[in-house]
Amino acid sequence: MQYREAKVFGKDVSVLGLGCMRFPRGKTAAHAIMQASLDAGINYFDTAYVYPGSEETVGEFLAQGHRDEVILATKLPHYLCKSAADFDRIFEEELKRLQTDYVDCYLIHMLASPDQWQRVVDLGIEDWTARRKEAGQIRHIGFSFHGANADFKEILDAYDWEFTQIQLNYFDAHAQAGLDGMRYAAEKGLPIIVMEPLRGGTLANKLSPDAQKVFDEAGPDLSYAQWGLQWLYNIPEVTCVLSGMNEMQQIIENVALADLVTPGTLSGETLEVYERAVQAIRGEGAIGCTGCHYCEPCPKGVDIPTCFHIYNSGLSTSWFAGEYDYIQNTSLGGKPTNAGRCVQCGSCEPKCPQQLPIRELLQTVVKRYEGIPYKVATSVKRRVMHQN
Ligand code: SF4
Ligand code: SF4
Repeated sequence: MQYREAKVFGKDVSVLGLGCMRFPRGKTAAHAIMQASLDAGINYFDTAYVYPGSEETVGEFLAQGHRDEVILATKLPHYLCKSAADFDRIFEEELKRLQTDYVDCYLIHMLASPDQWQRVVDLGIEDWTARRKEAGQIRHIGFSFHGANADFKEILDAYDWEFTQIQLNYFDAHAQAGLDGMRYAAEKGLPIIVMEPLRGGTLANKLSPDAQKVFDEAGPDLSYAQWGLQWLYNIPEVTCVLSGMNEMQQIIENVALADLVTPGTLSGETLEVYERAVQAIRGEGAIGCTGCHYCEPCPKGVDIPTCFHIYNSGLSTSWFAGEYDYIQNTSLGGKPTNAGRCVQCGSCEPKCPQQLPIRELLQTVVKRYEGIPYKVATSVKRRVMHQN
């Protein structure tokens, strides 16, 4: 197993981590997966309060003498907390479920905007965390993130975080925190834990036929999942890639690859294969934005690359998935960054190396994703914020 340095944790982390959101059915099968992971050298297990039955299952396994063999990560569902008493109640329940008296890595789960972080701060999370750390019950504090790049950086700057967990894969290289956010966090010395390396399976068993063809022609010996994972292993800033492996064969394949691909292993030619695959996934009608961010900043705060990325990604999934992503990533965070904010000033277009007609394309995004469902969702958000 390849290990990556994580000074903050005081020990190196296996580049492949075990995502514990879904185990195979039955305690025996789940324990076998965890045992095989440990045997293969995996030392990072990631669970959460809201993963059904997961903390209990992990706890039962760790209680068989394995607690000190893993870096155990779990999460605080801030969205279920109305007071600091909820932090206590949930954390105590987690310790009980996990049959342990400490958590190595504790994450504020699914932060998506600075507003959400501020709400948790107002509830007293900073004092609460300090107390739990002093008591030795939390070793390291971090957050998992799904939101816009600028919001990610703002949250990173707002607290003395020790690690972070972001969605990253070759298709989302310039979405959410993205490679840019990852580097920003790495420059602060934070270990980077990667989730959704295969985009919930859409880059593995649900890959589009055209993209399958691209990979089959380039390297028929690798599975699509291995193509996805090796892209991440190749990045030096990535500390650990979480994979929800629930079959032995997946562990064998993924571990074999984790031995082979170290940072900088992939050739320029191989990296071009990913670009072709991304084009194939997007299909016809996709906007040719490379996510370089040169067009920024927009005086009205439009997150141009994110709007285009979600538009493209919605072409390969469904309108509904795209709409959900769009609302979540451009309009539910701190400051809205949606395409509809564009006032057509045109100052972004000369900066675009792809010479994209950005104003016109943003209107295409507005037509697709800022209809009635968008208006309803954002007005509900305004009402909720007003009530708070
Ligand atoms: S044209 Fe629109 S997106 Fe571009 S800088 Fe102006 S307001 Fe922003
Ligand atoms: S400059 Fe062009 S290619 Fe780069 S992010 Fe902006 S729109 Fe996309």
